[in-house]
Amino acid sequence: MPYSLKGPARPNASRLRGGVSDAVGGSPERARRRDAATIARLKGELAGQAELIREQGVSLAHSRKIFDRASAAARIGVWECSLPDETLHWTDVVYDLFDLPRGTLPDRQRALACYPPASRKVLEAMRGRAIEERSGFTLDTEIITFAGRSRWIRITATVECEDGVPVRIFGMKQDITEEKLLSDRMRYLAEFDVMTGLANRGQFQARLSQADQAGQGAVGALLLIDLDGFKAVNDTFGHVVGDDCLKEAAARLGTVCQGADLVARVGGDEFAVLLGPHLDRGAVSGLARGIIDAMGEPVSVRGQPLKLGASVGVAFVETGAMCDLFMKADTALYAAKAAGRNTFRIFKPDTGRKGRRAAA
Ligand code: GH3
Ligand code: MG
Repeated sequence: MPYSLKGPARPNASRLRGGVSDAVGGSPERARRRDAATIARLKGELAGQAELIREQGVSLAHSRKIFDRASAAARIGVWECSLPDETLHWTDVVYDLFDLPRGTLPDRQRALACYPPASRKVLEAMRGRAIEERSGFTLDTEIITFAGRSRWIRITATVECEDGVPVRIFGMKQDITEEKLLSDRMRYLAEFDVMTGLANRGQFQARLSQADQAGQGAVGALLLIDLDGFKAVNDTFGHVVGDDCLKEAAARLGTVCQGADLVARVGGDEFAVLLGPHLDRGAVSGLARGIIDAMGEPVSVRGQPLKLGASVGVAFVETGAMCDLFMKADTALYAAKAAGRNTFRIFKPDTGRKGRRAAA
């Protein structure tokens, strides 16, 4: 407790004024000088304390400034909710995250309305458990701010107790919107073909190995589709027109194969369709025919009327690993090409020469 100019000086002075000189039996002059010296010493101590407090204030203000700057740069704010009355305290960054004017009174129910219903449910469950277990949690969630903007935030929370009773839950809220968009983009690039928007070869292979591990019944059939004479489209009209043809072919395939487990672009002009076990041979053959018909529909690309065509190889899951399935479908595709293109073939053990490549 810092000294007060009024506080300790007065009792000391009164003690010194009355009795000290009498008690020691010295002259009043000597006592007065001793009192003056004591007062001077106390004043010096007070001045020292005041300087210390001033320096601490400057240091605190400096630390606060550094914290505010770091917090703003990292887009991390601190929040605190007292328990059980649920009074909220936010630092400026949290107001900014929610697009609320700084300093307005944050209301927990209003803030909760910013969370989509599913996230709100998860948040409330995690918070309830943390309070019950006197622990904490971390949650990445989307919010729709008071200005109607979508934003992703990371919430961390810790429960503080006094005498074993939770009295406060507090933590940080960080803007992770950019991080989230970047990771979504990375995941998209890892799993999808940017040109056509279909699943890419990586996702197709991952799905095949998952099915391989899951065993019989996970996949029913594989269709491999390869455009006929596509090199000529590139050679005659250029790669830009060729690219647009690939996009159109992918869109048509997506439409025809809406119920499929996966539709992927697995090569330049080659696509794969994975079907579940629920379709019988007649239905799969019908789908193969439907794909060929859809691909054969006239197309107009950049004002250029064109006609595409496709061949299809079909393999059904019987026994064996999923890489065999790809090999079998590829063998059947080769047979369809050899049969004059614009047709499909179903793999049979005597279909002919082995497929051109394996899945991996
Ligand atoms: P086939 O009838 O035997 O299937 O022969 P094809 O002319 O269709 O040629 P093939 O399937 O053997 O080769 C595919 C061609 O697709 C090779 C390449 O010129 C072209 N291609 C591969 N990727 C792309 C791409 O991203 N854009 C464009 N425009 N063309 C591509
Ligand atoms: Mg081709």
